[in-house]
Amino acid sequence: MSEKSVVDNVNKQLFIGGTWRDAEGGKTLEVADPSTGRVLTEVADASVADGKAALDAAVAAQEAWAATPPRDRGEILRRAFELITERTDELALLMTLEMGKTIKESKAEIAYASEFFRWFSEEAVRISGRFSMAPNGATRLLTMKQPVGPCLMITPWNFPIAMGTRKIGPAVAAGCTMVVKPASLTPLSMLAIGGIMAEAGLPDGVLNIVTTSTTGDVMEPLIRDPRLRKLTFTGSTEVGRRLIEQSAQGVLRVSMELGGNAPFLVFGDADIDKAVDGAMLAKMRNIGEACTAANRFIVHESVAEEFSSKLAERMSAMTVGRGSEEGSEVGPLVEAKQRDKVAALVDDAVARGAKALTGGKPLERDGYFYPPTVLTGVSEDATMFREEIFGPVAPMFTFADDDEGIAMANDTEFGLVAYAFTQDFSRAIRLSERLQTGMVGINQGIVSNPAAPFGGVKSSGFGREGGAEGIEEYLETKYVGLAL
Ligand code: NAP
Repeated sequence: MSEKSVVDNVNKQLFIGGTWRDAEGGKTLEVADPSTGRVLTEVADASVADGKAALDAAVAAQEAWAATPPRDRGEILRRAFELITERTDELALLMTLEMGKTIKESKAEIAYASEFFRWFSEEAVRISGRFSMAPNGATRLLTMKQPVGPCLMITPWNFPIAMGTRKIGPAVAAGCTMVVKPASLTPLSMLAIGGIMAEAGLPDGVLNIVTTSTTGDVMEPLIRDPRLRKLTFTGSTEVGRRLIEQSAQGVLRVSMELGGNAPFLVFGDADIDKAVDGAMLAKMRNIGEACTAANRFIVHESVAEEFSSKLAERMSAMTVGRGSEEGSEVGPLVEAKQRDKVAALVDDAVARGAKALTGGKPLERDGYFYPPTVLTGVSEDATMFREEIFGPVAPMFTFADDDEGIAMANDTEFGLVAYAFTQDFSRAIRLSERLQTGMVGINQGIVSNPAAPFGGVKSSGFGREGGAEGIEEYLETKYVGLAL
C-alpha cells in the first residue's frame, strides 16, 4: 500500500443521490500534504447548484428513510463500522497524508470514529416514547419520537472522520437524511467514508457529500432553504456565530461544537507523574490541534516547578517528523497559516515575560512543523490565555489556593472541557461542580468517548454528540392527545 495508491483509490467527485459526479463545469480544488506543502490531488469543487442538488437528493430520500425499520438502519451502521475497522491501515495513511498527524494517531481517530457507528447501531433500536394518562383522566397522552428531517453537517479538518461520524451515526440511526460538507483542507477521508457507507448498504440520497472551496456561498443557500430542518456544525466559534444567525431564518434545530480553551489544573496533592502523563495526552494528542487540547496549565505553586520540568523533559524527547514516517511522534501543523498563528502566540507570550523550557521557534524545514514547546512564567495578559493555541505549546500559570485556580480556569469565554488532577475526592467533586464547562476530566487527560455526551457551554456551543443524548439531537418529540 503506497501513499499514491491510497490517494488514487478514493473517489474525488461529489457524492449526490448515490452517484459520484463531477462538480459543475468540472471545477476542482487542490488538497495538499502539510508535511511537505506539496499538492496530493484534486477533488471536485462544488458550485451553488451542486450544493442544491445534494439537498434535493437528501429531501427526496427523507420519507422512505424515516420509514426504514430501525433494525435495518442499525445494521447498515454496524456493517460500516466493520468495513472501517477492516480498512483502518489504508484510511489511516490517507488521513495522515492530508492532515499531518502520525499514523498511530490516525488509527486512534479511526477507532474512535467507527465506534460512533457501533454505538449508534445499538441506539437505533432503542428510540422510544411514552404513554400516559392526563392528570384529570380525561385524555391519554401518546409521546413519540420522529426524525428531525434533512440535516446539513459541516465539519473541521482536525479530526477529518470522527467529527463526521459523530453526526452521521446518530442521524442514520434516527432516520434523518443529510448533506455533509467536510473541511476543504481534508476532504479525502470523508469521501472514503462515503464510499464505505454506500458499500454498507445505505440507500441512495441518505448521505450526500459536497466538497467546495467557496464554502460560504455554497452553504448559505442550503441553510436558508426551508426544506432543511437541522444544521450541525463543528468548527470555530467565529464561523459558528455566523451560522447561528443564518439558521435563525428557518428556525432550524442547531447543534454547535465550537472552540475551546481548556484549563488543566494540577493541585498540590496531585500524583505529579500521573498529571504529566495526562498532560501529554491533553496537550499532544492531535499535535495540540484539538478543541479539547489543554490550552492553559494552571498549576499549584507548590508543584509548579516539578510539573513543568517533568513535562518539558517528556515533550522535548518527542520525535518530530512526517506522520507517515516510522518513529514520528509529532507531525506538522495543518497549514502555514496555522503554524504562523502558533508562532505569533508564542512570540507574544515571550515578549510579555515567558521563558521557553523547550521549543519556542518554528522548525526550518519543508512542511509546517512546530516543535513541542513548554513556556513558564506566562502572564495572564498573554494572548494565549484567552485564545485557542491549536498547536503543541504548553503555557504554565500558577495559583495559590483552590478559589484562585478555579477562578482562573473559568476566566474565559469558552467552556468545552476542563482537566483537574487531585487525589482528594471531595475537592474533585466540588471543583467539577464549579467549573463552567460541558465536560470535566478528573485525573485523566482525555474525555472523548462515544458512550458519553460530548459538548460545551458558553462560546464552546450547545448540543451533545455521543452517549444517550447524541441521538436526541436528531429526533423531534411529538405528542398525540387521545380522547377515548
Ligand atoms: P472553521 O474554519 O470554522 O471551519 C470548520 C468548517 O466550517 C469547515 O468545513 C469550513 O469549510 C466551514 N466553513 C468555513 N466558513 C464557513 C462559512 N462561512 N459558512 C459555512 N461553513 C463554513 O474551523 P477549522 O479551522 O476547520 O477547525 C478548527 C476549529 O474547530 C477550532 O476552533 C476547534 O476548537 C473547533 N473544533 C471543535 C470541536 C468540538 O467538538 N467542540 C471539535 C473539533 C474542532 P472550509 O474548510 O472550506 O473553510
